[in-house]
Amino acid sequence: DGTDNRDPAPGSGGAIHRGHQALFIGGQWVPAAGDGTIDVIDPATEQVIGTVPAGTALDVDTAVRVARAALPGWAATAPADRAAVLAAARDLLAARREEVAATVSAELGAPPAFAAAVHAGLPTAVLASYAELAASHPFEERVGNSRVLQEPVGVVGAITPWNYPLHQIVAKVAPALAAGCTVVLKPAEDTPLVAQLFADVLAAAGLPAGVFNLVTGLGPVAGQALAEHPGVDLVSFTGSTAVGRQIGATAGAAVKRVALELGGKSANVILPGADLARAVNVGLANVFANSGQTCSAWTRMLVDAERYDEAVAIAAAATAKYVPGDRLGPVVNAKQRDRVRGYIRRGQEEGARVVAGGPDAPEGMATGYYVRPTVFADVQPDMAIAQEEIFGPVVVMIRYEDEEDALRIANGTVYGLAGAVWGADEESAVAFARRMDTGQVDINGGRFNPLAPFGGYKQSGVGRELGAHGLAEYLQTKSLQF
Ligand code: NAD
Repeated sequence: DGTDNRDPAPGSGGAIHRGHQALFIGGQWVPAAGDGTIDVIDPATEQVIGTVPAGTALDVDTAVRVARAALPGWAATAPADRAAVLAAARDLLAARREEVAATVSAELGAPPAFAAAVHAGLPTAVLASYAELAASHPFEERVGNSRVLQEPVGVVGAITPWNYPLHQIVAKVAPALAAGCTVVLKPAEDTPLVAQLFADVLAAAGLPAGVFNLVTGLGPVAGQALAEHPGVDLVSFTGSTAVGRQIGATAGAAVKRVALELGGKSANVILPGADLARAVNVGLANVFANSGQTCSAWTRMLVDAERYDEAVAIAAAATAKYVPGDRLGPVVNAKQRDRVRGYIRRGQEEGARVVAGGPDAPEGMATGYYVRPTVFADVQPDMAIAQEEIFGPVVVMIRYEDEEDALRIANGTVYGLAGAVWGADEESAVAFARRMDTGQVDINGGRFNPLAPFGGYKQSGVGRELGAHGLAEYLQTKSLQF
């Protein structure tokens, strides 16, 4: 669209991407069919920082047709050449990391240090992993008298949320491109700016026109049109369980592939004998990072009855360090703020005890969608605050009697996305983790691994992202017998 849409971001060294007034379709920024727009708001200042088009079903249809036309060429591109494009994109994204961090900081409200380390750093690592996997993956294998071919699923419709705006995009687009699929992306309406920046990166990396297309727009309009489009072979969705259920039903009726990355209510299980202070402190940091807006956050802390009071005291004291506006950013929008505060009030009504935080606005923060970091003690496993995803800086502490009790509580929700176990030694923690109904467990403070599969048991989702398992989602197999 020819406009200079970068402005210096105050205090960050990076520049904020302000938004193209266009959609990215067929390798170009093109006007949307309608004239609707979406204002992007900085949740820390409540100011409009950019504007993007609100695409409609017409735009989605154009993008899907373009993606389908580009499919045969990209699918036939040698995996090494697809890998080269991904490697170039990784380098370009790394070179623009300050701009990525400043943009996510502005549209999501993430504190600058976290935005730089995670929101900018993680997508680069995931792109790097798929540049390598595209080059090394065995797309053809011999099995007895057969040759098994792994072929791209086709046109992918990707629908992503705002909580890790670029990571969620890259976790779908990178493996899809590595597999030889073409993509239409509908990013979250709260955070479309970094999605546009990523479209520029892919174009600059030499991705052929039409292989990646971006339609910004509202969920029930552009998102739904993409999920229902007959020209889409696989819908990959990350977001709320309510919308995921609807998308799964639509895909089921059309007999098409679907991948769903949904909510969580993960347990941080602190076994007797574990380093209590470390387990509590790392557990709080895990939830308060990104203001609690992490689907895999360990929002339920399980502590044995003997050390429960000690754990509560440690948690209450440690929470004071998470000062809103400094270490703790706002939540993404006014609706989420009201929702999170509503859950805090609900916890009080249910009889849980607030030991840090509370439902009121943080002191001296009249502007911005801030929520006080909140810890609840005396929480019963069946309370709403212990069962439902709050998606804010809220931790519930639950007392357990013995390991069997801890296991029952840990497995006692409809979700199963992640979790943590802290034990006196690795062996006891692993033994417990094996019995958890969940997709990913950190053992005694394990480090994030971009190659490890990530995804849900139970109602946390269908399918896996990241690493070779994430790549497999975008492939279908054909066997030739000899
Ligand atoms: P959402 O599910 O409404 O939005 C996620 C994506 O889906 C967005 O791109 C949105 O535009 C799109 N969408 C919305 N309605 C759609 C429809 N009918 N058809 C197709 N696409 C549609 O999530 P939200 O409203 O932004 O957040 C609500 C709650 O969801 C949060 O409080 C949290 O509990 C959960 N959530 C989970 C994750 C996660 O990573 N698992 C991420 C964000 C939100």
